[in-house]
Parts: sequence; structure tokens; C-alpha cells
Amino acid sequence: MSLIEDLVAAYRILAEHGVIDAYGHVSVRSDRDPGRYLLSRSLAPELVLPEDIMEYDLDSNPIDPRGRESVRERFIHGEIYKARPDVKSVVHNHSPSVVPFSITTVSMRPIFHMAAFVGEGVPNFEIRDAEKGTDLLVKTPHLGQALARTLGKCPAALMRGHGSVTVGENLPRAVGRSIYLELSARMQLEAMTIAGPGGKIAYLDDMEVKASVPVQDYARAWPLWRAKALAGLKSQ
Ligand SMILES: [Zn+2]
Repeated sequence: MSLIEDLVAAYRILAEHGVIDAYGHVSVRSDRDPGRYLLSRSLAPELVLPEDIMEYDLDSNPIDPRGRESVRERFIHGEIYKARPDVKSVVHNHSPSVVPFSITTVSMRPIFHMAAFVGEGVPNFEIRDAEKGTDLLVKTPHLGQALARTLGKCPAALMRGHGSVTVGENLPRAVGRSIYLELSARMQLEAMTIAGPGGKIAYLDDMEVKASVPVQDYARAWPLWRAKALAGLKSQ
């Protein structure tokens, strides 16, 4: 029950922080079977309850659908879990400040310690390289595999004209990374605006990234975020 509660909280936390709109989703690898993962049925994140959480195998087949509709982009989750045994949680979102970096040649760079993971690389997934003329949704195993390949060993990837995906070795880290990826994108735009064309910006260097990433596990924020989210659930 605890992992399911954590996942329900994660949906609400991400919605509250403006990271997922009506369409984003977050999953967690099962703690009983690493060949399975948990993801909500197709539902707006703020409405997710424990009974909406479904279990999938890594081919993204629902184990016990009971009439519940699956998220079409679930292959993002299944294919990343297959490719990355270290990953225990995946967030896919359309957070608005991140998308412009997916459609320009300006890369996201590590600009502050809470989002130091950006310095480990945030590649950009060009869906056209995998399939032309799509509606941009990653709704087949083939597209999920292509996205997982672009992600590689990185903590996050942009998805051109669509959104992004963040991963972590636990739920708090994947959720925290999504929240701070959005903030980092906003701050980078502000810094570039202040600096002006050709202006200098002091990004984190590689040594600072290496020193910061292990520390930024969002472990202090998580109990607060979770308690607030579940308090909202009980008052419904
Ligand atoms: Zn999407």
C-alpha cells in the first residue's frame, strides 16, 4: 500500500507544482517484481486515487485492467525500465518552460545546485528520426525504445515539441528532478535575458555537477510534499 500511496502522492505533487497538466504521468517500478511497474489509469493527475493505479509488465501490458483505460504513452515507462535496470521511477510531462529548449539549438545547462543533474546531460529526442508524421505521442514500443536510446544513461531527456522525461533510482528523485527541471529552464531563460546576446553566464562546472548530484536527492522535500498531497486526498 505504501508504494501505491507514494505514487498517488507523486501525481498530486507534480500537478501542484505545475509540472504535469491533465496529461502527464509518473510511474514506479514494483517493489515485489522488478519486471513490473505501477502507473495510473488514463486520468487527470489531480484526480488519481489508489484504485486508479494499475500494474504493467515491461512490455506495458496491463496485468489486471478490470475495464480501466491505460495511458497511451505507457511505452515511455516500460521501455525505459527495460533499458535501465537502475531506474525505479519515470516521470513524463509537458512542463511549459522546458519545451522551448526542445525546439531550439539552445541546450539546457546546469545553472543552480538543485538541478545540478542537468549537467549530466539532457539529450533531445527527435521523434522524426524514429518515425515521420506522428502526432508526437510515444504510443508504440518502437517509439518508446527510440526514446530510451536517446535517454541513454542520462537523468532526463527532452522530447522535441512535446515535453520531457526524467528518471531516478526512486520516486522522490524522479519527481524532484521534474520539478527542478522546470525551474531550471525558467531560470536559464531569465539568466539569458539578463545577460543579453553574448553575455556571460556562470554555469556549474563539471566538478560542481559531480559534487552536487549525489546530494540532490530531494529527501528533505519529499515528506513535506507527500504529507501535503495526501492531506488533500483525505479532505476530498
Ligand atoms: Zn506526452
